[in-house]
Amino acid sequence: MHAGLEAGGTKFVCVVGRGPDDIVASERIDVTDPASTIPRAVAFFQRTVAAGHPIDALGIASFGPVELRRGHPAYGSITVTPKPGWSGTDMVGPFRDGLAVPVAFDTDTNAAALAEGRWGAARDVRSYVYLTLGTGIGGGAVVDGRVLRGLVHPEMGHVSVPRRPGDTFSGSCPFHGDCLEGMASGPALAARFGRRAETFDAATRDEAVEVVADYLGAALRDLVFTLAPERIVLGGGLTQLPGLVVRVRRAFARNVANYPALPEHQDPGFVVPAGLGQQAGPAGALLLAELAAAGA
Ligand code: ZN
Repeated sequence: MHAGLEAGGTKFVCVVGRGPDDIVASERIDVTDPASTIPRAVAFFQRTVAAGHPIDALGIASFGPVELRRGHPAYGSITVTPKPGWSGTDMVGPFRDGLAVPVAFDTDTNAAALAEGRWGAARDVRSYVYLTLGTGIGGGAVVDGRVLRGLVHPEMGHVSVPRRPGDTFSGSCPFHGDCLEGMASGPALAARFGRRAETFDAATRDEAVEVVADYLGAALRDLVFTLAPERIVLGGGLTQLPGLVVRVRRAFARNVANYPALPEHQDPGFVVPAGLGQQAGPAGALLLAELAAAGA
């Protein structure tokens, strides 16, 4: 049995099990400050073990940015986050001390990417990109079965995108203004249209879909030409916008302009919605634990 923690900015989701369809215990914890949130998660896993479900490892799929370089003094910590009180928080230490099992640590996006490969929409390919579209935009690349890590982790939401002709919206990214996240995330749409995406009327929703699809189509061209994925998997709340995935396919096709004439890029199976939905994070955390338990 493995333990998984999806450490989100507003909720911690704790699970014990072997996969998304085999969970024996779970708990959701509202995130306040680290000093009260983290011990509650440690206590949940301790109680579950005491109740007769021993665990061999814990995987943490964390919001970021995080330090992923083993051997770095800040390994296992949130680095700098606008979330008050969480910058510099050690996410790994309290669990290693409290549970005495190996603890694997990665971003929520990387973990979700891996989970889509094991249980979701990328089961039959070895190289793919997973993008989550919501409050932020983030991406994980799995290259020949391994999630891409280097100097920390990719930040695919912050790639630059060409402006749509006539678009005067300045962009909502505090760092780059009109990067992909600044133009196509949930908060970007809310800033552009003056209200939250859930309250859009039909006409605004259509326009929002066009905007997101156009910017995403441009970004996908860069990702596809850089990483050569066999598939693009789209997750996150914005994929619920009606017609979005179809429009993204169309915008992507326009952007690649049939270069290098790969029929696969035109196939509806190339850009697909995620298979795991909300379960991708906790499932990814379990998978990180499984890999840690196997010594990977
Ligand atoms: Zn940005």
